[in-house]
Amino acid sequence: MDGGPGAPASPPDATSPDAGPYQGYVYAYPHKTAYRPLDPRPPLAEVWAGEPVDRLFLYLHIPFCEMRCGFCNLFTRTGAPAELVDAYLGALERQAGAVRDALNAPRFVAAAIGGGTPTYLDAAELTRMFDLTERVMGADLRAVPMAVETSPATATADRLAVLAERGTTRISIGVQSFVDAEARAAVRPQRRQEVETALGRIREAGFETLNLDLIYGIDGQTEASWRYSLDAALAWKPEEIYLYPLYVRPLTGLGRRARDWDDHRLTLYRQGRDHLLAAGYEQISMRMFRLPGRSSPAEYSCQSDGMVGLGCGARSYTSHLHYSHEYAVGAGQVRAIIDDYVRLAPGEFAVANVGFRLDEEERRRRHLIQSLLQADGLDHAAYRARFGAGVEAHFGEELERLTAGGLLERDAPPPGGEGARPGRLRLTAEGLARSDAIGPALFSGRVRALMARYEGR
Ligand code: SF4
Repeated sequence: MDGGPGAPASPPDATSPDAGPYQGYVYAYPHKTAYRPLDPRPPLAEVWAGEPVDRLFLYLHIPFCEMRCGFCNLFTRTGAPAELVDAYLGALERQAGAVRDALNAPRFVAAAIGGGTPTYLDAAELTRMFDLTERVMGADLRAVPMAVETSPATATADRLAVLAERGTTRISIGVQSFVDAEARAAVRPQRRQEVETALGRIREAGFETLNLDLIYGIDGQTEASWRYSLDAALAWKPEEIYLYPLYVRPLTGLGRRARDWDDHRLTLYRQGRDHLLAAGYEQISMRMFRLPGRSSPAEYSCQSDGMVGLGCGARSYTSHLHYSHEYAVGAGQVRAIIDDYVRLAPGEFAVANVGFRLDEEERRRRHLIQSLLQADGLDHAAYRARFGAGVEAHFGEELERLTAGGLLERDAPPPGGEGARPGRLRLTAEGLARSDAIGPALFSGRVRALMARYEGR
């Protein structure tokens, strides 16, 4: 699920009442569209030299889906034939071997398999994927938290049995809407019955955490139908729920005028947030809600570095370089990129192709953005310990603007919580609602320019 980067060339003023609240979903900083070909391509052994490799996050990317959702801009292709899946798993194995050799005995403490739709693979293909990850990468997947994404049509009993048996602790399913007409409008033509059956199978398989994704802002969606979907989701008591604003503007109804659609999405966001808080969920970020007492160790921890990505569209992070195999996200290029990827020789996987080098300023900015966009906010002491000075010394002007606009406060309790929490800087409830404007407003000029050039291609 992705709302796209959407960074304008000049910084939007997130505090202005005229600024649209939906500029772009900042799920990682910098965004992949700021990556560029690395010349020369550095060997991975060099990239990882001096980096801690004993607490890494492993991410596997499976870029296949049964159909393309109308709101999707992820790196994925539909209708891949079995031969392509077979070749892809072969390439994944060669890549895993090259990466393991370069990292010198990496140790993984969490894993995630995303896409695309990993369960596009059938049970035997999933088994092969887990086998190669354990055997070649040396990852002990049953001993660490592991998240896997699925879809209603592919969450079959035999696939779920493989996932459960191989140690999956968190399963995430994109439902989007429990109203069939809305699912159709979002070009995700699944039936309520199919969704309910899949959820039943997931609960039967006994995963520790069920995450369910819903979307608001769909053409024809009303406060009543949104409430209906929220209640249908709550009936399964999912440990986590993500509420995503739709980013593809409907051409009819409220979508006709951007401002009306923004207002509509904000109304539905507030309604959804309040409904989940009243049902006992905690707000973790603008999109994420979780039952108390749960944590999500199978999610990449936002401020830390040390992520190893395997697969065609996966990113890897060290403290100084974020890199991936390719940086295209446009649907038209995806097929060609996957076709190239499956033909690569082992040596080709031993270098970083495209990426973004982070200097000290970008590392600080990454920490600031990824902390502030969490409801728990930024811990002053942790920032000072990492960067040697207070966050105000580096970002005083930006923080002042957000505070003056009523979007940021110091030492405030978390949303829905009570009591001051000294030493933290966090977005107000209104600030969290405007996360998708505040994140892009904090991008550096360099990242903004790179993204703008990419968008303009
Ligand atoms: S299932 Fe996810 S990755 Fe696949 S097309 Fe839909 S939104 Fe995109």
